[in-house]
Amino acid sequence: MAVDGSTLDPNKTVVVATGNAHKVVEIEAILREVLPDVRFIALGELGEFPDPVEDGDSFVANALIKARAAFEQTGFMAIADDSGLVVDALDGAPGIYSARYAGEHGNDEANNNKLLSELTFVDDDKRNAHFHSSVVFIKKDGTVVVGEGICPGKIGYAPQGTNGFGYDPLFLPDAVEGLTMAQLTPEQKNSISHRFYALKDLASQL
Ligand code: IMP
Repeated sequence: MAVDGSTLDPNKTVVVATGNAHKVVEIEAILREVLPDVRFIALGELGEFPDPVEDGDSFVANALIKARAAFEQTGFMAIADDSGLVVDALDGAPGIYSARYAGEHGNDEANNNKLLSELTFVDDDKRNAHFHSSVVFIKKDGTVVVGEGICPGKIGYAPQGTNGFGYDPLFLPDAVEGLTMAQLTPEQKNSISHRFYALKDLASQL
């Protein structure tokens, strides 16, 4: 445990329910404007907590499960996100199963290979897809606020670029001509990403 929770002010602490340090930085950067005095702290900094079962049937349901667990486990305000890739030609797959599309949780290479093989006979004009992010914030009184964001684009034919993670090497965002998400700098990606828009949407409601 890196931080003693009893030293933190419950009115000014928000726990971020993620194991990804980059997400904490991204969330803080965007919400800082609307929550200027708040300290954002990763859940893992406060101790070891069991992961809740993410058995929701939508991005927002899973984000709510994670945020609610962190809120109940720590007593602090909490924020969590859930995201994934939605491919039109695959009826929305991999969707909420994005992290384990090929079976093994978090195997990006296998997931990308499966995506490519599922789209083998799908033409250019039918390769539309979008990333979706749902962000859930739980206030001190238990009120739930939801932000939603998407990043529209297309699925390419071969992985390109080495930045980012997940499906980034195959995803060609509409906002940037001819480049995959994995060919963008982190700053470029953060300025057009589904998480960015979801956090902006959330911030507008706080
Ligand atoms: P999470 O909810 O952010 O953990 O995302 C779940 C899964 O969706 C990840 O394991 C990725 O496969 C995919 N995903 C979510 N966001 C992105 C992104 O920004 N780029 C690429 N893949 C993503």
